[in-house]
Amino acid sequence: MNLESRTDITPTLRIIPRDQHIISRKNISKAALRVLYRLNEAGYAAYLVGGAVRDLLLGLQPKDFDVATSATPDEVKKLFRNCRLIGRRFRLAHVVFGPEIIEVATFRGLGEDGAEGDRHIVDGRIVRDNIWGSIEEDAIRRDFRANAMYYDISDFSVRDYVGGMQDLEDRVLRLIGDPETRYREDPVRMLRAARLAAKLGMRVDAAAMAPFATLGSLLADAAPARLFDESLKMFLGGHGLKSFRMLERCGLLEFLFPATARALKRGDEALRSLVEQGLANTDARIVEGKSVTPAFLFAVLLWGEVRDLASHWIAQGMEGTEAWAQAAARVVGEQCQRVAIPRRFTFTMEEIWSLQPRFEQIQRKRVFRLMAHPRFRAAFDFLLLRGHESPAMHELGQWWAHAQQLPQDVLAAALPAGGGSASDNAALPTAGKPPRPRRRRRKSGDRSGSV
Ligand code: ATP
Ligand code: MG
Repeated sequence: MNLESRTDITPTLRIIPRDQHIISRKNISKAALRVLYRLNEAGYAAYLVGGAVRDLLLGLQPKDFDVATSATPDEVKKLFRNCRLIGRRFRLAHVVFGPEIIEVATFRGLGEDGAEGDRHIVDGRIVRDNIWGSIEEDAIRRDFRANAMYYDISDFSVRDYVGGMQDLEDRVLRLIGDPETRYREDPVRMLRAARLAAKLGMRVDAAAMAPFATLGSLLADAAPARLFDESLKMFLGGHGLKSFRMLERCGLLEFLFPATARALKRGDEALRSLVEQGLANTDARIVEGKSVTPAFLFAVLLWGEVRDLASHWIAQGMEGTEAWAQAAARVVGEQCQRVAIPRRFTFTMEEIWSLQPRFEQIQRKRVFRLMAHPRFRAAFDFLLLRGHESPAMHELGQWWAHAQQLPQDVLAAALPAGGGSASDNAALPTAGKPPRPRRRRRKSGDRSGSV
């Protein structure tokens, strides 16, 4: 860590007593309270810290509860049977209560002479950070002022060392210390700024926003696995659409999802509405407590580039299936250099994409085969999103929605048995009409799609 950047910050403690803030133990998880009390009874300082304190002060329900303490990880481990030590970059204790994990971190120091522990810095980036310190030091090495407040279990007060309370009142995210240095230490902080602003409905302070243009490219050096985790937090945390817009507005999207940024920059408004609708649907599902899969969302984000590349190669004479497979492989390969999407997800993404052309093949056997495909549901949901691409695509989606409602025999009777015209897309406008009214709508020269 560049120590000069932090020595200009003098933490000034402001204690907000219990009766002057809204944090109530009712809103803190039982597991977190148990950890706090146990540490405290054993004579250590113990605080709820970070995002949980910030969220509680904003009247939101925290996602997780983190604890900061004067006890070292080994000391924490001795106090809890259900405890394991994790991490290399940051050594932490996890205290496990069934499905809930309370993360307990020892106060981190700035590494002045005589400090205990070890820190390793390469080219200004922190690669290992295990130096223990005081609570003041712990506060100023956090990212945003609003993330550096401590809820004291011994008297239920909130301790604010760097003006976080002020920022919550102003609804602004300000970095602790010099923004450029803080981003160079850890470029992922830029993404955190965008994500937290979206999640909390706060703005990013101008000084914290200014370096994005010059330092955004440092995200290329961040670990792809970490960027995958961060992407999930951004897009599957219930605020995906806002996070996405924020990323784009901040100019950071191109460093994380270059293919998406490129495709959108081509000015394809239909693609933009497809992506935004995909994100909005995901957010809505999360609010409703429904499951969401990262594969679907990444398939949405990268679709424009895959589709355009496949169409380009097909226009150049490449065989369809081959073109789709190669386009998918190219786009996924490039993306995974930035964001390490695990293979099980990229596999599903490729399936969702490669099934898309098959929706245009309205023939009895093919329709039933597609409906029986294990990935049909996801691919169909994807097709519905593609309704944004054109009226014909919207109609195709409606056709498939309707087809699924019909009894099998009725559907079978309405479908052409097929022959050589399986990929006769010209049949679509008629084929796209639901079979139920059994009204024939013929276009000149097209009699094949009488469903
Ligand atoms: P969320 O609501 O997503 O949990 P959070 O702020 O709690 O947001 P966490 O990743 O849970 O995010 O981190 C907990 C706390 O650790 C933060 O509030 C902040 O104080 C500190 N922190 C996290 N990441 C960084 C970072 N990259 N640099 C400095 N401090 C960080
Ligand atoms: Mg958190």
